[in-house]
Amino acid sequence: LIRFHDVTKRYGNFTVLDNFCFDVAPGEKVTLIGPSGSGKSTVLRILMTLEPFQEGTLQLAGMSYHQENGRGRFRASEAHLRQIRTHVGMVFQSFNLFPHMTVLRNIVEAPTRVLGLGRAEAECRAVDLLRMVGLSEKKDHYPSQLSGGQQQRVAIARALAMRPRVLLFDEPTSALDPQLVGEVLGVIRDLAHEHDLTMLLVTHEMRFAREVSDRVCFFDKGRICEEGKPEQIFSTPKEDRTKEFLRSVL
Ligand code: ATP
Ligand code: MG
Repeated sequence: LIRFHDVTKRYGNFTVLDNFCFDVAPGEKVTLIGPSGSGKSTVLRILMTLEPFQEGTLQLAGMSYHQENGRGRFRASEAHLRQIRTHVGMVFQSFNLFPHMTVLRNIVEAPTRVLGLGRAEAECRAVDLLRMVGLSEKKDHYPSQLSGGQQQRVAIARALAMRPRVLLFDEPTSALDPQLVGEVLGVIRDLAHEHDLTMLLVTHEMRFAREVSDRVCFFDKGRICEEGKPEQIFSTPKEDRTKEFLRSVL
């Protein structure tokens, strides 16, 4: 479903990803772990088409995106980019809700504007999604009236409203007070049981990574240093860098 083929990404002279190759199968749940600055968020941002890259190819759902060599621009047309964005949803560390819109409006905004869904249908689905994340009674509240955990659950519902094939999570709980982490992880855990949804998750919650992922990739300096089933990575890591990293976070 997703294929990075020899993708190279630089900021000026600094190479973040160097001939990066990475495949994700439909329905797979993959966790990216690794030290700060190793390029985890960059991978998600490239997938969201938020970030251009310099070399290589990105394939998503059968569509292919190249970059003009050295120019760092997508060769894909704007229409293509819009198409790619409708396949991919992202949940950020900071919840990024629209502050001037109610919870319900936050969720129906993109489906009505981008997918052209009718208002009534969009609202009906938004109500279902809010029930799923346990926030039915908050639909007319504004983001500032919600706790961090509640805001993040709204952000998840909003991403799902676009019916993405791929859902990306970039440290979805690291901005939360410890007592609010559980409720958000619970929602993500339920989503992980949806077989059709492909999930890519960056997290420092190692116990959680172990529970929900099919595969864990350990990132170091812009490449995947080691990957495997969670039991293998967490119990019997092979690479010294992985062992060192796990010792520092566990
Ligand atoms: P963290 O765990 O801290 O979130 P990360 O693995 O997500 O780290 P990235 O955000 O992908 O790391 O960043 C990878 C590298 O790219 C870092 O060294 C960072 O300093 C650099 N970088 C990221 N964004 C920019 C930018 N806009 N301009 C210049 N350098 C950048
Ligand atoms: Mg990051």
